[in-house]
Amino acid sequence: MTLLVLCDHDRGVVSDSAYEALTFAKPISDSENISLQAVLIGEGAEEAAKSIISFGVEIVNIATHECLTDYGPEIWSETLTQIANETEAKIIVSSGTDRGNEVLAHVAARLEMPFLANCRKIEINGASSSATRIQWGGSLLEDVTSNAEVQIFSVEHHSLDSKALSSSGGGDIVEFEPDLDPQLTRTLVVDRVVRTHGITLTTAPVVVGGGRGVGSAEGFASLEELAEEIGGVVGCSRAVTNNGWRPHSDQVGQTGTRIAPEIYIASGISGAIQHWVGAMAAKNILAINTDPEANMVTKAGYAVLGDLHEVIPAITAEIRNRRST
Ligand SMILES: Cc1cc2nc3c(=O)[nH]c(=O)nc-3n(C[C@H](O)[C@H](O)[C@H](O)COP(=O)(O)OP(=O)(O)OC[C@H]3O[C@@H](n4cnc5c(N)ncnc54)[C@H](O)[C@@H]3O)c2cc1C
Repeated sequence: MTLLVLCDHDRGVVSDSAYEALTFAKPISDSENISLQAVLIGEGAEEAAKSIISFGVEIVNIATHECLTDYGPEIWSETLTQIANETEAKIIVSSGTDRGNEVLAHVAARLEMPFLANCRKIEINGASSSATRIQWGGSLLEDVTSNAEVQIFSVEHHSLDSKALSSSGGGDIVEFEPDLDPQLTRTLVVDRVVRTHGITLTTAPVVVGGGRGVGSAEGFASLEELAEEIGGVVGCSRAVTNNGWRPHSDQVGQTGTRIAPEIYIASGISGAIQHWVGAMAAKNILAINTDPEANMVTKAGYAVLGDLHEVIPAITAEIRNRRST
């Protein structure tokens, strides 16, 4: 009997979200006394296994097959389902990323079991479990119970310190060759757009966000400059994407990206709940706003009350000034 953790990786580079899922799963496997096993699928799985092996797992299952070239929800879920059947999985976990939720939804359908997505807390009591999970991007917490034969759930992304699980000795790497129909490759990642910075909204240590207060697409130039100076990326609110000033891929929030940088500089953003749920995992927030009553100002750890068109260039200038002395 096993607790399987689907560990996401990108051609061998393990995602932080995989460590979150392992950190979440470890105490459950300890208390239930079942074997904690990781699952890595596709090209690069062998490379990724070297990073996972020391994180308290008994076995890392690596699945390889000529059809497993890159990520695809159907082929990954069929592979995970076969490993679940083979190892008599009692619990299957992944991080609540888009990819993790997509694969587990497919696995649940294949196993005809329910799926609890985005759990913040879970207690397994023998054959049943009770969980608290987030809905509406975190603005609603829902308590649920399940008595499914196989418990399938994903862990709220960014709710845990992915580094919390310290290295605790090595397990074994076991190769698994699934029996796969090439038809399952109907949806497959075939290409990637390489970002020049190498960092994305989800991985950036600094996000400089702009809202309606920025006023125009051109107004983002000073935010870009600041982000460039401090190794960050630019994010924005939905008011901005609705106005066509920035692409949707830059949007932070419930219907955008959930971020967790070291610092989020939110300028000209009121902090509506739908934006806040995407930003609240930031370790520090600096709000720049003309309105002292703005939600973002009252919730932020730090705030500058003023016109962002003056404040942002002043911050950039001060950083450059200090660096040059
Ligand atoms: C189903 C649903 C999903 C949604 N999903 C998202 C989402 O994912 N992300 C998201 O962001 N929103 C989302 N929204 C929209 C959300 O409700 C807000 O409308 C939006 O976040 C507001 O964007 P904003 O803060 O930029 O604009 P506003 O609310 O208009 O705020 C502008 C702020 O800029 C300040 N300001 C103005 N001029 C300046 C200046 N010169 N200097 C400094 N400050 C200035 C103002 O004081 C104000 O606080 C969603 C809404 C719905 C209904």
